[in-house]
Amino acid sequence: MPYTRVDMEKVEKKYAELTERLKAAKSADEQFEIHKDYYKFSDDVFTNIELAEVRNSIDTTDEFYEKEKEFYDENAPLIESLDIKYKKTLFESPFREGMEKHIGKVAFKNIEIAMKAFDDSIIDLMQEENALVTRYDKLLATAEIHFRGEVYNLSMMRPFMVNSDRATRKEACEAVEAYFSSVTSEIDEIYDKLVKNRTEQAKRLGYDTFTELGYYRMGRNCYSKDDVENFRRQVKESFMPLVNRIHEKRAARIGVTDGLKAYDNGVWFKEGNPNPTGTPQEILEMGQKMYHELSPETKEFFDFMMDNELFDVLSRKTKRQGGYMTYFPKYKSPFIFANFNGTEGDVDVITHECGHAFQGYLVGNNEIVKEYRDIGMETAEIHSMSMEYFTNPWMKYFFGDRADDFLTLQISDAIAFVPYGCMVDEFQHIVYANPEMTPAQRKEEWKKLEEIYRPHIDWGDSIMKSAYWQRQGHIFQVPFYYIDYVLASVCAMQYKVRMEKDYKATWQDYLKLCGMSAKDFYVNMLPQCGLEVPFRDGTVEHLVKALDKMV
Ligand SMILES: [Zn+2]
Repeated sequence: MPYTRVDMEKVEKKYAELTERLKAAKSADEQFEIHKDYYKFSDDVFTNIELAEVRNSIDTTDEFYEKEKEFYDENAPLIESLDIKYKKTLFESPFREGMEKHIGKVAFKNIEIAMKAFDDSIIDLMQEENALVTRYDKLLATAEIHFRGEVYNLSMMRPFMVNSDRATRKEACEAVEAYFSSVTSEIDEIYDKLVKNRTEQAKRLGYDTFTELGYYRMGRNCYSKDDVENFRRQVKESFMPLVNRIHEKRAARIGVTDGLKAYDNGVWFKEGNPNPTGTPQEILEMGQKMYHELSPETKEFFDFMMDNELFDVLSRKTKRQGGYMTYFPKYKSPFIFANFNGTEGDVDVITHECGHAFQGYLVGNNEIVKEYRDIGMETAEIHSMSMEYFTNPWMKYFFGDRADDFLTLQISDAIAFVPYGCMVDEFQHIVYANPEMTPAQRKEEWKKLEEIYRPHIDWGDSIMKSAYWQRQGHIFQVPFYYIDYVLASVCAMQYKVRMEKDYKATWQDYLKLCGMSAKDFYVNMLPQCGLEVPFRDGTVEHLVKALDKMV
């Protein structure tokens, strides 16, 4: 896939031309033809931006793509500005009704929200914000953890931190803590600047705090912070007892009698968590066999990924942390990035990230490409998290005779994640409602939330009790994103409960949801696809009742 830097002069000209043609058009059909030109043009631009982003993430020390990334940190807000002006013309079109028939009513709601979230007056702040996030990413990507005479990056430390030998994982967690102690004030400084920057953006756009703007930036077009708050309340009331039971069982299973410590977190079995048995290459091959057997649609998808070498999954020292799936619109092609480290997380890449990629691939030929691809993350994460469960019957390919242990771990871990996700979300609501808080006060708030949401952890005198959030990239990169994982998980678990009774019918509902993309509003789509909306009263309670019998 050849890369060329986006030529800003040409981009400006093209947007001006498209906007003029749109204004001169005599009918909705004519406008839609112009809009198809826009698809082609913007697919090209966004593919180049995405290629630079991907190539920077696979080697954060590559100077060429570091420069390109800097270029887009600066210029992406300018492109966004042009894009919004184009869409504004569409929004104010006299043929709006006709255009709604072509691209859907959700598209227009999303344009309205995009306009609320952006104005040229905040471009300088957005540029500064991008640079701060890049600084945070780079700091963590180049972290050097000294452990037993070797130097590791953060993701390479994970196997030691969940080691079956308690002394090893204690020592590993201490090594990671030592690293965070050395950078905690720098991260505090970056975050303080981010909070103040985002608050200033909100002020310039006429909002009291960043929260409302943050919701618009997440493209939330059918629910508010009150809905999310109601969801967290349900979790505190109905879900926490189940979580606490899961941790009691876990303590008994791993033989901890003196209370679960921070370094016991993520350990589910006395003999250690089940690890995949194969090499990275074998994991990919097993993935291919699995998707061949699962359905004709998944077979076609996975062959496409393998034939076109669309995985970069091996861990290297200078790669960015974490994993993601992205999409190159010009090539209708998903791409998967990960850092394999020999733990069960590697299989998540084949199930979770492939769930995202599968959905992208499935709707790649849809004519209304751009609007339908504008999927909220609370929806997109259902595609991925449900795939983690739909692939359950094949886990013996990856874990051999420990497949059952993996399934126990998977659902237990998903349940334990719910309060953590809520905590990350509540923290950000507190932070942005009180932007004048000092870094020390923010850490105090996190500590309080630990006691509400993770009371099972005995932190000792670890600084991580107040600083754990500094490892959670989403808090820095995309504010208010994190709760989407929890909302989605609650939906994926509903599918999990149902597929035990009727796998085929549940799979059909899932395919329907994937196919709908962003065609309808989230709260409308879920009931059509056999799901209860997470923040509606009773959803969490119903789920707890069903899960109680399973774990
Ligand atoms: Zn995901």
